[in-house]
Amino acid sequence: MEERFAQRITREEAVSDTRLLGDFCAIYCRGRHAGRDRRALASDGVAAGVYSRVPKVCDECAELLRYAEKRRAYCPKDPKPFCSYCDTHCYRADMRESMREVMRYAGPRSMFRGHAIDGLRHLIEGRRAAAKAKAAVPDSEERSR
Ligand SMILES: [Zn+2]
Repeated sequence: MEERFAQRITREEAVSDTRLLGDFCAIYCRGRHAGRDRRALASDGVAAGVYSRVPKVCDECAELLRYAEKRRAYCPKDPKPFCSYCDTHCYRADMRESMREVMRYAGPRSMFRGHAIDGLRHLIEGRRAAAKAKAAVPDSEERSR
């Protein structure tokens, strides 16, 4: 494991984001990939001790998770916005589509599994992003306030 990855993935914010990704992928995999073999994820994130529960997923979901761990660890934004409202598209197109499906499936189902706060934050930030886009206030004007 690269030292830089270990450093970045173990930051508090990255840890909670990565755990959420793990939970979401596990929920998605159980529901959508019911017939597949699932194993405890093996990844750099697991090796770094990021997960409180190591997600059990199929090979395809494991690949997505390993990819997502890297993207999260190396996200240049601080604080990181929700990926869906971010203007930097750092995901490869196919991975982005897969993750979108995971979010769409697991998001509403995760409300009952300890992620209600994340769901609320997502909703609020989404409204804010939409309002901002609608108002289209030029950056300079906003800064002078
Ligand atoms: Zn799966």
